Amino acid sequence: MSVKVLFVDDEEGNLLVSEAVCGDDFEVLTARSGAAALEMLRAYEVGVIVCDQRMPEMSGVELLEKVQVEFPDCVRLLVTAYSDIGAAIDAINRGQVRRYLKKPWEPEELKAEVADALDRYLTARRLRELERRLIQTERVYALGIVAAGIGHELRNPISWITTNLQHSLAELAELGKALQAQDITLAAGKVDELGAALQDASMGAERVAEIVSAIQLSMVRPPSESEVVDLEEVVQLALRLVEGELRRAGRLDLQVSGSPRVRGSRTQLSQIVVNLLINAIHAVAKVPPAQAVIALRIGTDGKLASLEVADCGPGVPEQDRERIFDPFFTTKPGVGTGLGLAISRRIAAELGGALEVERDGQLGGAVFRLSLPAHPGASQELS
Ligand code: ADP
Repeated sequence: MSVKVLFVDDEEGNLLVSEAVCGDDFEVLTARSGAAALEMLRAYEVGVIVCDQRMPEMSGVELLEKVQVEFPDCVRLLVTAYSDIGAAIDAINRGQVRRYLKKPWEPEELKAEVADALDRYLTARRLRELERRLIQTERVYALGIVAAGIGHELRNPISWITTNLQHSLAELAELGKALQAQDITLAAGKVDELGAALQDASMGAERVAEIVSAIQLSMVRPPSESEVVDLEEVVQLALRLVEGELRRAGRLDLQVSGSPRVRGSRTQLSQIVVNLLINAIHAVAKVPPAQAVIALRIGTDGKLASLEVADCGPGVPEQDRERIFDPFFTTKPGVGTGLGLAISRRIAAELGGALEVERDGQLGGAVFRLSLPAHPGASQELS
């Protein structure tokens, strides 16, 4: 539907002249009273209304006042005789009228004013449309980040469950054979193995349930109600999730100093540590496992609690040190999502902290440092 220009005047002759002047350049509608004009505004998209001040029943200013309330985006122009200029200026000051035109107007003047008003209306409409699209895009984008984050976090416990269930099935088959052979010692060993594998699978399932309930909680619980979390506990939780991969990648050097505690969400914090550990595991992939080292250091200076994950991989080139935190930046096409660090940094910022990267002085690769405000009660200080 194209945007219309509406002329309102109780004198038919004036309307005919306005239409003759503007009809070639704009889509013109006319109305002979305030009430008729309001009907038209409801029926069409009117970008500009040009209305005479002196009309019986409803004056121009009275009509434009109503238009301002019901159709605030419509640009309002008032045509007025010299004797009514006071009312027009007053209406401009109250924001009801954008400009007034003195009678008698010149055709070129009227056309220029209408063109300017229409331009203003269309620009504002384009801006509103852009704003709407931006909000929509942001929503989709935020949803994508959340969905990918959840997927990222669930992937580890699910693969943990799968591996342990497959192992259980294999052990069960072995148990069957041992029972058939009446080898009680072997059967007892298999029962133990089976028990341990199922225990591990159930731990993974608990983790999935924990993540799901954390997601439910995070949807209803404001961040200020987060819990006091022991960073060492967070680390232990994360380590359990990547234990197997870590063992295959190399040696873990765990350094705990003090008892750093922070305010936050256990699940979200362990998500950060898991992300950092998986990245470190990827980073040392080319180093033989016998020489590969990943360090996890936690400590506090009383004000800030810190958690570092360092590795002996190639490190992050200087020019990429900010970009790696951008969503979807990845150097692992087909493997990475490029979301881990973006999500981790967002969580850190939400908790009043920061996540940064530099070269690790000891191991030579990257060191990611998560710093968070320390919760009072952390005992010893980091030496
Ligand atoms: P993804 O791991 O899925 O690519 P991330 O956001 O976790 O996504 O990481 C983004 C990028 O940061 C990685 O693709 C990699 O280039 C770089 N990076 C992250 N951790 C390390 C690390 N420990 N050593 C070197 N580069 C790293």
